[in-house]
Parts: sequence; structure tokens; C-alpha cells
Amino acid sequence: MRAGNDLSQFWMPFTANRQYKSSPRLLVAAQGNYYTSHDGRQVLDGTAGLWCCNAGHGDPRIVSAIQRQAAVLDYAPSFQMAHPAAFELASRLTRMAPEAVDKIFFCGSGSEAVDGALKITLAYQRAIGQGGRTRLIGRERGYHGVGFGGISVGGIVGNRKQFAALLPGVDHLHHTHDLARNAFTRGLPEHGWELADDLERLVALHDASTIAAVIVEPVAGSTGVLVPPKGYLHRLREICDRHGILLIFDEVITAFGRIGAAFAAERFDVTPDMITTAKAITSGTVPMGAIFARQGLFEAIAQGQPENAIELAHGHTYSAHPLACAAALATLDVYQEDGLFERARGLEKHWEDALHGLSDKPHVVDVRNFGLIGGIELASRPGEPGARAYEMFTRCYEAGVLIRVTGDIIALSPPLTIQADEIDKLINTIAHELAKLA
Ligand code: PLP
Repeated sequence: MRAGNDLSQFWMPFTANRQYKSSPRLLVAAQGNYYTSHDGRQVLDGTAGLWCCNAGHGDPRIVSAIQRQAAVLDYAPSFQMAHPAAFELASRLTRMAPEAVDKIFFCGSGSEAVDGALKITLAYQRAIGQGGRTRLIGRERGYHGVGFGGISVGGIVGNRKQFAALLPGVDHLHHTHDLARNAFTRGLPEHGWELADDLERLVALHDASTIAAVIVEPVAGSTGVLVPPKGYLHRLREICDRHGILLIFDEVITAFGRIGAAFAAERFDVTPDMITTAKAITSGTVPMGAIFARQGLFEAIAQGQPENAIELAHGHTYSAHPLACAAALATLDVYQEDGLFERARGLEKHWEDALHGLSDKPHVVDVRNFGLIGGIELASRPGEPGARAYEMFTRCYEAGVLIRVTGDIIALSPPLTIQADEIDKLINTIAHELAKLA
């Protein structure tokens, strides 16, 4: 640290500030699959930063693209103006997406993508004469960022209870986490597709004519890796279609190779009306989010408005920021040149076997996996929820691997560049630390 700095000014996000500052952990550099800690140690990145650095760290192709862009065009507004890379990136992204989902709205983060998608939903329903459809449906244990829309449809009470004002008329589907039937499942759980029928319950309760959209994470990450039961997402699509309800997949975590395909929509062969993305779109290097929408949504909103009308009263200063566009284009090149999505797919079996090797370790009540995502659920210490996993987090960090914990669940999501022996190192370190844990 530079002389004169102290730790008190930075109000850290989603952090126990006082606890952290009594024993700080700083990352000062990153290369490949490793961070360098402030005390000079190499720390294996078991979480791709925050589920975002899918191409690993410091790839020179991405670094130099950002440097070049900064030197040529540092900023350009996207309101009634544009720059070429924005169009190039949008075209490129639509070529990767499911065919029907071919209009891209850029923003700066996953939270912005979610709130933007919810606004597009409402504008669309109004435009097609369904203005009574204002109700948004999320799911228990869903995480959709921190905007007011996102925390309203999100299913995490801890992210809401400090803030009184939420969107009105929101409801939630039952979550799909079922340890009694599905514990220690490899891949997609057998049981629980019928939980999608919970949407029929909400339709019966509120009437379809009040429901605008359903938003779910195809694989829920932030609340501890909840893998969808076989057939669940198909069923949800069917019910949405039956009732004229839009389906939004929040793919802020799952898009761009995390589950061995460009999108979960592709892997599960279910096409939603919108897909929200961020994070790995630039491999975490420059903040960016993107909403993928069916062209028909834009057309319906535009229809009936004069040509000089701004079709959607929504946007951000940093929509399609040139540095983010350059980073994203270079990142997509890296994904393609290095075949990283296929690589991730190829590593799945090794990943699954390694993870499930933890099944008989102390405190472990479940191990689950899909793509290059892993969840290890620990029994909580009586009266101290989260304490056991937090201790694992600090122990593993000291032992040279970065993991992420949420409640008493360890959530893993390494860069797609991870090597098989690094997977073994990650899992062996966790096993070693679990053995020492009270
Ligand atoms: N949606 C999902 C599924 C996420 O996992 C996240 C972040 O982890 C977000 C939205 C919010 O993204 P951001 O933190 O970029 O606002």
C-alpha cells in the first residue's frame, strides 16, 4: 500500500467491512489462472474472479485490444450517435445466440441488464395492448443483481430487507433445491421438473392477464449452485407460451462457455424471449452487460410510434462503451481461437469426478455440478450459519486457492483455461482444509 492510504474510505460491496479490514486480503496482479496476493503468494483462481474471467487473466490479445481502443477512441456516446465496434459486437453476439434472439441492448453490468430486460418486458406488453400485464415473476433463491427490479424479482430476503421500496405485484416460483431427493447428483437432477408447474399456481392465483414475464437463472449461481432438474426449463417455456408470458433467462453467469456452450439456452435447447448477460462477455476485463431480445419485442415497441420517436426511453452513458466493445470483441476471438467453450465441455468429466471425490469428506451434505460449476454444501454449525464456509474461504485463501462461499455453500467456477492438474489442486486443497475444520 502507498504511504498515507488507509482502509476506511472504501465502502466495500457485499463485504463485512469491519471484519475484512481487521485482516485484509488484497490481490495485486493476475496472470493465467493465478492471482498474486499482496504478500506475494500465487493464488489459484477457483472462481474466475466473480464468475467472469472465463478466458483466464491477462490474455495479451485482450489487453492489447483494450490498450489500442483507449488510444484511438476513448469514449463515444451511444445516444443518437454510435461507433463502429458497437455494431460489430452486436452482430457478432447475435451470431452466437439462439436464432430468434437477435437484438442487443448494451449496458454496464448484470444488474443493469436485468432491470433493462424487465423494462423492455413492460414496454412490450403495453405496446401489444396488454398493459394489464405488469406482474413480474422471479423465483425463490434467484439472484438478479442489485437494482430495484433485480432485488424485487430476486428471491434472497437478505438482499431486500434493508430496503423498503420494491416493485409492486411481484411474485416468486418455488425454488428447485431438493436435497432429500437430489443430493449428490452428478449433472442435472432427476427430480423436480414438476416444480415448473408452480407457474400454473401463480397463473391461477393472479390470472395470466396480469403476468408480464418470468425471470430465472437457468443454473442459479449466487445462491449456491442450483442446477435445474431435467425437463424443468422446457416445462417453464411451455407454460409461458400457453399464457402469453415472456420468459427471461438471466445468463449473467451461464453465458459464454461456463456450461460448455455459448448460452444455457443452447445447452438446454430452450429459447427464451430475452437473455441477460454481463461478466464473461469481456472476460471480466471491462464492465459490460448486454440484453439479448427477440427482434419482435423491438418491432412491437416501435410499431405505431413515429420514425423520429425514441422507441425505448432507456439507456446508459456507458452503453456500448468503446473500451468494453473492444474488450468483448477480443474476448470472443479468444473464446473462438482457443476453443474455450469446447475445452470447458471436455473438462466436465474430470471436474465432476474431482468434485464428487469430496462427497465423503467431513461436513459435506451435498456436491453438485454442471458445466464448469461446482457446489459443495456444508452442514452449518449450530447457531452460526455461514461460519463454517467462511472459515473454509479464509483457510483456502491462505493455502493458495480462491474459492467463493455463499451461506454454507462453496461455489466454484474456475476460468475455462484451468488445467486438469489445477482442478486437482483446487479440490485437494478443499479436501485438506475440510479435514482440519471444526
Ligand atoms: N444476475 C445474475 C444471475 C448474477 O449472478 C449477477 C451477479 O453475480 C447479476 C445478475 C448482477 O450482475 P452485476 O454484479 O454485474 O450487476
